[in-house]
Amino acid sequence: MYPLPRDNKWLLSRLDYLWSEYFSDVPQNNKVFISFGRFAKYRLGSIRLNKRTKSSIITITRMFKDQRIPSQVVDHTIAHELVHYAHGFSSQHPKLHKYPHAGGVVKREMSERGMGYLYDFYKKWIIEYRQLLRKQHGW
Ligand SMILES: [Zn+2]
Repeated sequence: MYPLPRDNKWLLSRLDYLWSEYFSDVPQNNKVFISFGRFAKYRLGSIRLNKRTKSSIITITRMFKDQRIPSQVVDHTIAHELVHYAHGFSSQHPKLHKYPHAGGVVKREMSERGMGYLYDFYKKWIIEYRQLLRKQHGW
């Protein structure tokens, strides 16, 4: 079986899957967009709120278009941004913390929602990825 092409439609299907599987209690009370952004090696994903249209925009690094990046890593990145959304960062939901990453809240939320496996997968991958980057830069 050939992997699906990684375009914005694919990203949306991953977002839909993760939302219905793990965030079904979080109402979507504004428009949410997701798309690939520029090729970023360090900032893998982000979420921002368009103040004028009140829509949330999730951007995923173009690097993840590469099929060699495990899909679990992409899913983890999307889920991470969805946790921010659920916590009221760049969304219309009430803000649950002062800072989006306060005291490991994202990791905790992910394991409480049954996505510990995604976090663990990502954790292993990021260690190897950082080693690769270090080698590339000759550090
Ligand atoms: Zn974050």
